[in-house]
Amino acid sequence: MNVSTPDRCLLCHKTKQIRPAGFRQGYKQVGRDPLSLSWWECGACSGWFVSPVPTPEEIEGHCNRANYNDPSQARAIAQGKDLLQRRVLSQLASWVRPGPLLDVGCSFGEFLLAARAEGWAPSGFEPYGPAAREAAQKGFDVRCEWVLEKAGFPDKYFSAVTAIDSFCFAWDPYRTLQLFHSLLQPGGVLAMRVTNKHAILNLARFLSLSGERRDARLTAILKGQFHSIGANSLGEILRGIGFDQLEIEPFATTAQWNTLSLGTRTAYSVAQGLYKGTFGRVNLSPGVLIFAQKES
Ligand SMILES: [Zn+2]
Repeated sequence: MNVSTPDRCLLCHKTKQIRPAGFRQGYKQVGRDPLSLSWWECGACSGWFVSPVPTPEEIEGHCNRANYNDPSQARAIAQGKDLLQRRVLSQLASWVRPGPLLDVGCSFGEFLLAARAEGWAPSGFEPYGPAAREAAQKGFDVRCEWVLEKAGFPDKYFSAVTAIDSFCFAWDPYRTLQLFHSLLQPGGVLAMRVTNKHAILNLARFLSLSGERRDARLTAILKGQFHSIGANSLGEILRGIGFDQLEIEPFATTAQWNTLSLGTRTAYSVAQGLYKGTFGRVNLSPGVLIFAQKES
């Protein structure tokens, strides 16, 4: 299959220096062969992204087989994320007074419950129907669309927008960040937890020849995400969009330390040493928290 080069980078919207990333992602589908997705690399932001992105039907076909979207798994996973959610909420409160909050990719609404308990007035956005319905049953305004633009939330309304492990599934990430910015009041804060896999993906690509084995290795690391970029480059993009205060924190684990695998603990520990040793310039922590405040 021949795929034409995208006319712009989906991460920074620059139009030059886009080249093939040198691998394809196997994207599993229920009852069908996996799709083979083309990945591209941008010379301007060094980000990687999928183009063309799968159709909504194909994404739904993939979602349905992922156990994080299985209701019976929701509670266990949410408990693992409880510490992280509390950290996000306590730090958000140091940036901005609790007010209207939009959780993008709210899944079954566990974070909405935690936010409400801390004095926020949360709403949710969730493209996956069964999760959105369950979150709405908890008494929240939860809107279910394939794209955030269609959800009809008012501009300049929210004190906070949160995206905890959901930004990597946005299929036009630059446009999504612009939307987060326009949904926020002046002085409002975007809080995102993102996986920070760009360095490890680069290393895995460097250590393998192009072909099926490289594709399989990178697919396993990507876990269904549609783009990957270094944390500091993402910070630059946020500044360009109009977030003038920014904090990128390492060490955003999604489970209690003693329940993480040895490999994950090692990765976090090594990254933490590098982060401190370079005064924050090198941030390879597998999970990071980003707080970005819209100009007042
Ligand atoms: Zn770019």
